[in-house]
Amino acid sequence: MNEHDLPHDPLADLGFETRAVRAGIERTQFGEHAEPLFLTSSFVFTSAAQAAARFSGDEEGFVYSRFSNPTVRTFQDRLASLEGAQACLATASGMSAILAVVMGVVKGGEHIVSSAGVFGATAQLFNMFGRYGVQTTYVPLTDAAAWEAAVRPETKMFYLETPSNPLTEIADLDAISAVARRHGILLVVDNCFSTPALQQPLSQGADVVVHSATKYIDGQGRVLGGAVLGSQKFIDECVLPVLRTAGPTLSAFNAWVLLKGLETLSVRMEKQCANALEVARWLEAQPGVARVFYPGLESHPQHALARRQQSAGGAIVAFELKGADDASARAAAWRVIDGCRVLSITGNLGDVKSTITHPASTTHHRIGPEARRAAGVGEGLLRLAVGLENPADICADLGRGLAA
Ligand SMILES: *Cc1c(COP(=O)(O)O)cnc(C)c1O
Repeated sequence: MNEHDLPHDPLADLGFETRAVRAGIERTQFGEHAEPLFLTSSFVFTSAAQAAARFSGDEEGFVYSRFSNPTVRTFQDRLASLEGAQACLATASGMSAILAVVMGVVKGGEHIVSSAGVFGATAQLFNMFGRYGVQTTYVPLTDAAAWEAAVRPETKMFYLETPSNPLTEIADLDAISAVARRHGILLVVDNCFSTPALQQPLSQGADVVVHSATKYIDGQGRVLGGAVLGSQKFIDECVLPVLRTAGPTLSAFNAWVLLKGLETLSVRMEKQCANALEVARWLEAQPGVARVFYPGLESHPQHALARRQQSAGGAIVAFELKGADDASARAAAWRVIDGCRVLSITGNLGDVKSTITHPASTTHHRIGPEARRAAGVGEGLLRLAVGLENPADICADLGRGLAA
């Protein structure tokens, strides 16, 4: 297959929403309507010769669910269709998707350039690879020149999330992918926050997309899952050997739950983005709020870029409270959290239930004050992951602590 050809998808001409409910389905002889759930660890063969052909790869077919299962394949084919990818491999979690990419791409003595604003466990994973001789340099997401300056002869991978967490900064995928291409470096984008419903990085210069399907793809906080998407060659040669050997595989049951999640992805994202915009506008008008970070607001420094790259602003909103010093800013932020009766107090995101968190004392606590300052995570900063509740109830919840 040519590097840019998509595999034959009988639904290729149909809209995103149609493919989200129908892509990847292969009906069995029973003619079931819903996607079947294949809870089986292994598959049987009709003869010794067939067993040999399946194991050698001469014959297509399922062998063992560590690396092949029909329900998992339906999920992979559906997500590949939505991201516009040649191929997809599902993994047990978002972190195992990232692990599989790092293991498949870099070796001792090689180098990664990563956005400084990545998910905490992702940076910890990259740092852990220091043990195996892989170095990582962290650069500001929005500074394409800094990405270029960080390139070494041994750099193999660029890694970023856009929008970033928690400040919703936007990476210029055109600019950063141009740098990557010039140096023959693989650009990997974690598309967890936007999902393919809002942006498809492979069509904007990325080589590989990773997902934590635990977040918006499930969307209802039930299971962990992840995925890696890219060219057939990349998936077959770099990721499949890791998955097949190390086994951080998505379970068939979780794949089935995630398929149900994909069915409602576009309607959830559309409504959650609309709710987030409404909450963000309301927050901008509150006297106790110093600043609101949301790509859908005209006040966002990269609003124009976000409009070009994403079909909506996403469902993550961060805001900074006014405070005379760190202690009073933290007290004000905690007061807002403690005034909430509807919002869940948790660091998780992507659920239809809205959540609120104080990054400085939770998700970004372990990186220390120095790194927090560099990342722009102050004591007065709060992060919302807006769900499907009535937005007026969300604003009323936040209003209690803000008024105090
Ligand atoms: C949660 C998250 C991950 C890790 O995913 P898990 O499914 O929890 O392993 C990676 N990237 C981002 C942006 C996340 O939010």
